[in-house]
Amino acid sequence: MDTFDTMIIGAGVVGLAVAREVAGRWPGSSIVVLEQHARFGQETSSRNSEVIHAGMYYPTGSLKARLCVEGNRLLYDYCRDHGVAHARMGKLIVARDESETSMLETILEQGRINGVAGLRMLGERDVRRMEPEVNACAAIYSETTGVVDSHGLMASLEAEAVSGGAVIAYNHCLERIEPCNGGYRVCYRTVRDIAAGECRARRIINCAGLGCEQVAAGMGIDTHAAGYRLHYCKGEYFRLAQTQAHRIRHLIYPPPFHDLRGLGIHVVRRMDGSVALGPSAEYVDTLDYTVDPTRAREFFESARRYLPFIRLQDVQPDMAGIRPKLQEPGGPIRDFVIADEAGRGLPGVINLMGIESPGLTACLSIARMVAAILRGERSRT
Ligand SMILES: Cc1cc2nc3c(=O)[nH]c(=O)nc-3n(C[C@H](O)[C@H](O)[C@H](O)COP(=O)(O)OP(=O)(O)OC[C@H]3O[C@@H](n4cnc5c(N)ncnc54)[C@H](O)[C@@H]3O)c2cc1C
Repeated sequence: MDTFDTMIIGAGVVGLAVAREVAGRWPGSSIVVLEQHARFGQETSSRNSEVIHAGMYYPTGSLKARLCVEGNRLLYDYCRDHGVAHARMGKLIVARDESETSMLETILEQGRINGVAGLRMLGERDVRRMEPEVNACAAIYSETTGVVDSHGLMASLEAEAVSGGAVIAYNHCLERIEPCNGGYRVCYRTVRDIAAGECRARRIINCAGLGCEQVAAGMGIDTHAAGYRLHYCKGEYFRLAQTQAHRIRHLIYPPPFHDLRGLGIHVVRRMDGSVALGPSAEYVDTLDYTVDPTRAREFFESARRYLPFIRLQDVQPDMAGIRPKLQEPGGPIRDFVIADEAGRGLPGVINLMGIESPGLTACLSIARMVAAILRGERSRT
């Protein structure tokens, strides 16, 4: 039976970043990434806004705040050094009336507490100078917000992990993990020939995204009792007609939903030049990525409040992503969980639960944190 020093479950952006980090820090160790699909990034990592967030929204001292602020810096450096396409285009969080202006003040203050650089408040005239076609009475300008080509990022992380000795086992779906003398017996299913198999691993890192609760349950963890119950929250996008795309220069966001279940229907400029509106935020029971075309009017009405030039016919269905949320519907905001499970009798196991936004931005800082736990520098968080 094959034995690996480290097994990572999931080849999304986080699993690949962790594989690269482990390969770089422990050269010569054996690393395998188990991924159920035939290629990397087939789930949430390719179904998002591709925004490099600055980190102003998240609660003081939270992992989301700390890892986003650190991850933002690491990601820009990584993209520059590895030729990954990205653009530091800046973002405006716009207020359309007085009540929203006071929300901006709260966000600005939180951003400063979180250590976000390059934030400033703009009055109506400054907004108009930067974005002549946007309707706003005030805005926060965030100069460190940008966008990244998430596919290019994952391709680069995968190449580095593989050149560092990691094996990526595509078409392998993890089913169960059982402790066995000094490590774990891992049972998987190969997706193509539907055959079952087994291997052993000394350490296991659960980066399974939407599958993280199932993987944790497959280790024998009572996920309800542990607070690992996952909720799916769907975000749909609509595309703005290409003829209108040139009218916006920055990323434009309204203030976020008060419970932070999403950041509001915003305007995302993608690396390919297209402009999307979204994502919405609705809790769902199934992993269904279809976009409901009848919602075009809702997206149009929402965006028209700050983009007055938009017409209904400019808004076309695009794509959807699903957030792996620990926050239950109507419940309090939940942080990322990055847990060393030694305390549950699973030494060498790290579970990453609820890695929703800003998980893309934070992939490199999350990987660093995982490595620090593996080095024994940190215990449970
Ligand atoms: C609508 C939306 C917008 C977002 N916008 C942004 C943004 O602008 N900026 C930002 O920073 N973040 C954003 N995010 C969050 C970001 O996309 C995620 O945090 C990030 O992609 C998570 O990466 P991951 O590797 O943890 O998960 P995933 O990409 O989902 O990867 C997990 C992998 O695990 C595999 N897997 C699952 N179960 C098993 C199993 N049993 N066996 C083998 N493999 C398994 C899956 O196939 C998958 O490939 C957004 C998310 C959504 C949904």
